[in-house]
Amino acid sequence: MSEGRTISEVGEEGFLRLMAPLFRRQTEGFPLPLGDDVAISPPTAPGFRTVWTVDSMVEGTHFRWWRNPLATPEALGRKLAASNLSDLASKGADPQYALLSLGLPPHATLDAIQAFLTGLVAELESHGARLIGGDTVSAPAWTLTLSLTGLLAEDLPIAARHRARPGHGVYITGNPGESGAGLCLLESESESESSDPAHLEMVRRHLVPSPRIDTGRRLLALRDISMMDVSDGVAHDAQAIAYRSGVAITLDEDLLRPSPALAITADFLNVDPMNLVYHGGEDFELLFTTGAPEAEVLAIDPIIRKIGTVEAGTGLFLRGGSRRIPLDPRNFEHFPQS
Ligand SMILES: [Mg+2]
Repeated sequence: MSEGRTISEVGEEGFLRLMAPLFRRQTEGFPLPLGDDVAISPPTAPGFRTVWTVDSMVEGTHFRWWRNPLATPEALGRKLAASNLSDLASKGADPQYALLSLGLPPHATLDAIQAFLTGLVAELESHGARLIGGDTVSAPAWTLTLSLTGLLAEDLPIAARHRARPGHGVYITGNPGESGAGLCLLESESESESSDPAHLEMVRRHLVPSPRIDTGRRLLALRDISMMDVSDGVAHDAQAIAYRSGVAITLDEDLLRPSPALAITADFLNVDPMNLVYHGGEDFELLFTTGAPEAEVLAIDPIIRKIGTVEAGTGLFLRGGSRRIPLDPRNFEHFPQS
């Protein structure tokens, strides 16, 4: 441990020296160790495309140092990696190499930075990726940017957002809304340390999401697929697929029920669970459309469920019983009473 020392006390070179044991195995077998001006990776195997993504998290905008004991620097590192990995999952790519830009306030302690890096590297490694380089700068608040590459075989389809077609089914993995519920709990001063198991589950879903790498890879077997990861809420992101594809998407309210833990938490928070389901955000689940038979789709992974259909036209709609109304991608309103 670093006895509470801060980044400004040791500087960038001192920081890199202290973190060397953590970094060493990341560039094993590479022409250069981590810490030079550049990273040089071995040649990519022929027959693969390189898939790129980048994500940023800024203290005060994307996260705060919440009082909850689960909100650790290590969890933050895991989450930054997970949000990038989730983008690769949306195209079924195999994660490969990451570069980190680390903007740190002068008072950031080495212990916190080390814990952050440990979480980041552990999450990357658990999906076969390595952190091979980066940069450290001084910043007014923690400003974290990770870029990540992945490999996608040339004979696999590209699950682009613009490939939804009328007649496709709309599907999702996992339970959207849980992460949003967790954020509500974290933001609520009085409840941020609740020990209710349902609350803990929601908080964990927000702080340590699970990127759907394996599911994304397996879904490419369907060939005819349009996919994205859900970061801004199911409604917003379904709208993005509809808009890019020039189609209408209708979500079915009966198929999008909240999970039991989400229902309990929403009740406790006195918020509408469906509002969290549609607009929660940071779910890092996979939202996709495909023309493959429903049974074939559901057989790929038990976490997949059908939530709607793609139709001719434009826009986003909600079906409840025999009625179909426009769904605002930003705000949820129940079916008007009539
Ligand atoms: Mg994305």
